[in-house]
Amino acid sequence: MAASLIGSNLGEIQACLDRIVGPGVPAFRARQVYESIYKQRVTDASAIRGLPREWREKLAKEVAFGLPELDKRYQSADGTIRYLLRLDDGKTVETVLMPEGERYTFCISSQVGCPVNCQFCLTALMGLERNLTAGEIVGQILFTAAENGLSSQIAKLNVVMMGQGEPLLNLPNVLKAVRILADPDGAGLSMRRMTLSTSGIVPRIEELGREAVRPKLAISLNASTEEQRRELMPITKKYSLRDLMAVCKAYPLRSWEHLSFEYVLLRGVNDSDDDARRVARLIANLRCKVNLIALNPGPGIAFQTPDPERVAAFQAIVKRSAPCFVRKPRGRDIYAACGQLKRMADSSAFVELEAAAPGV
Ligand code: SAH
Ligand code: SF4
Repeated sequence: MAASLIGSNLGEIQACLDRIVGPGVPAFRARQVYESIYKQRVTDASAIRGLPREWREKLAKEVAFGLPELDKRYQSADGTIRYLLRLDDGKTVETVLMPEGERYTFCISSQVGCPVNCQFCLTALMGLERNLTAGEIVGQILFTAAENGLSSQIAKLNVVMMGQGEPLLNLPNVLKAVRILADPDGAGLSMRRMTLSTSGIVPRIEELGREAVRPKLAISLNASTEEQRRELMPITKKYSLRDLMAVCKAYPLRSWEHLSFEYVLLRGVNDSDDDARRVARLIANLRCKVNLIALNPGPGIAFQTPDPERVAAFQAIVKRSAPCFVRKPRGRDIYAACGQLKRMADSSAFVELEAAAPGV
């Protein structure tokens, strides 16, 4: 049995009811609980509809509900909100909500910290504290949706697994969360609106491709040669760029799907025309698009952000091979943008950021 109601699938809820109420609880009762949590999105066990009061009281007393608690909330000038959420064991993790007109994108974490050690990423400086459970992954969305009055629009939300952590190093919990989120009888999110981003854990990409219910796939490419990628992303020593591109070529895309590649541009390091030409060659003939991300700076990161002109020149070259976009930084001022999630709370660091990236 999972440790909390949020994150439990139907079978686990049934087992939980059998345990606390007595064996032989009818299946429709388990379904009532499941739908109350994920579809009606009640925020505690005592609000579960239709159950006898005695059962609700037992549930509330004997099983954790599992919604994370708000620790801190940071509001960006551009509308982005970064949440620091407190988990059951007192650890905290970040989730980012990015509103854009009528559209909302949730950027959720899959681990507390990250073990992968990419040289340009603030999360890497945390190291890995632990994996998140399926409930803690689902809980980030249920919490943020409830907090922002978005529960009724949940089917239209976009979810990106681009927060703290490497999702493919926590694949069983990530997949369990995705199955609950994408279940039309559960949270009811669309698989087509969910994206998982990976630093390139090659065997796990193959594993993901075999799953019937899986998000879209984004690959953090970030370099155009083996050597450069080994320096920037040491994981390349284990999973080479060559093997990564081979697994991308063989990836079983669904009819409606394309791959995404992300490429963080570091001034004078991986942002030359030659790099762009090599990227264009690497991705040629793949059904894909490329998102360029100009480095989001932070303390302890030894790289600089390229000028917009350099970014545009790089984009123009890559565009010859595939659609190529420049990702607009969201929430840089509150350390909520790509690669900036490190539970930053220190106002002096915010000031430092202003100096490093003026005008952002
Ligand atoms: N661990 C996963 C997902 C989280 S990181 C991954 O690496 O794919 C989300 C994206 O932010 C990745 O594409 C990563 O390359 C990028 N990123 C990391 N640090 C960054 C920084 N300082 N500036 C801009 N993008 C960064
Ligand atoms: Fe981990 Fe992704 Fe940051 Fe690399 S870029 S350290 S994989 S979170």
